Amino acid sequence: MVASPDFVILGGGIAGSAVAIELAERGYSVELVAANEGSISLAAGVFVTIMPENLMQLVKESMSFYERNKCLKTVISRGSLVIADKRRASRILSIHSEWGFPTRIISFSDLEDELRERLVLEDGEELLYTDEFLFDVGKLIECLYKRMRSLGVALSRAKVKSLNDISGLARGSEVIVAAGAYTGLLIGELREKSLIYRCQALTVNCQGISVILEDLVNGFYSVPVEASSSIIGDGSNEILDSPFKGYVYDLEDAYTVLEKYARRVRGAESCYIGRVWSGPCIVGRDGYPLLGRVGDVIVATGFNGSGLSLAPGSAALLADYIEGKIRSVPGHLDCSRDLRFKPSKILEPYDLV
Ligand SMILES: Cc1cc2nc3c(=O)[nH]c(=O)nc-3n(C[C@H](O)[C@H](O)[C@H](O)COP(=O)(O)OP(=O)(O)OC[C@H]3O[C@@H](n4cnc5c(N)ncnc54)[C@H](O)[C@@H]3O)c2cc1C
Repeated sequence: MVASPDFVILGGGIAGSAVAIELAERGYSVELVAANEGSISLAAGVFVTIMPENLMQLVKESMSFYERNKCLKTVISRGSLVIADKRRASRILSIHSEWGFPTRIISFSDLEDELRERLVLEDGEELLYTDEFLFDVGKLIECLYKRMRSLGVALSRAKVKSLNDISGLARGSEVIVAAGAYTGLLIGELREKSLIYRCQALTVNCQGISVILEDLVNGFYSVPVEASSSIIGDGSNEILDSPFKGYVYDLEDAYTVLEKYARRVRGAESCYIGRVWSGPCIVGRDGYPLLGRVGDVIVATGFNGSGLSLAPGSAALLADYIEGKIRSVPGHLDCSRDLRFKPSKILEPYDLV
């Protein structure tokens, strides 16, 4: 433990680890406190690139973060198929071409035999091939912890009940709270500035399809885990009053998403559900991450089910803000914004495109 570190970070998920690495790389002494080493609120592992334009800078920086810290070796597969209506497909193409993500429209005849036989595309829909990828989340977290150790970040374990328990406050360190959906339990003010909802997925046993599929028309994604199992996830719109309720999955929802999958993927009627799993996700009420100062502490959360794509880029933005570097960031992402928003419905990243 550092006697009086410059920063004490609460939360050892992707966000807390990324902020710790960013600050340690800039020469600060950092202590990271988390309930358990490497604990995160579950994730399928997709690095999503379909984002509104003003989040693309973060996506790009997150990718360079993983590259620089040699964590891209924990990527299991690369490339995904995206089904969208024509209007949204052309919007994605234009955003991706501006930000240098290789994305193109493909026709059915370009697909491998297996996909051509199994995917169902309706009139008016486009099929895009893009550079999203799938991480092995456990290995990614291991990679980030290894990097933190090599940079001399002090790692402590504690379940913090109140911000007063954080010794850094008494020692005069700057405290950064990156406790995911639990951040509002520690900083009451943040409760009204954020929305908590359930991110949910199911693991199905059957021969799924062999690439990441994002169906923006029906609102689900699927990722292959092994030849005979896949993860299928969809958006849940239920706003929760407590993050702990995020772990309760309604089995009926699981059958609804499986039905959507079966309408899109021939042969999926024979899939059966192996496991349903869910956890709390958090987003700012304007649909953007929650970054900046709230009272005596700084927060880094609100990544809307896309922490893998947004948290590392946000860490760089936050570190710049801490150092007083005014970065010209697109509107909503200014860390000094008041974090005071009008309530909105929960938006998945692709809803904002
Ligand atoms: C089913 C499901 C599928 C998902 N799929 C994806 C996906 O494919 N891609 C993606 O990018 N995201 C996905 N997500 C979302 C993913 O969980 C978040 O993007 C990511 O976890 C956000 O990281 P975080 O560090 O902000 O928060 P968290 O991962 O929740 O980390 C919070 C950290 O704070 C610690 N903590 C919290 N409270 C306390 C306390 N009181 N005391 C001490 N420590 C505390 C926790 O132990 C943890 O270490 C999915 C989520 C679910 C549930």
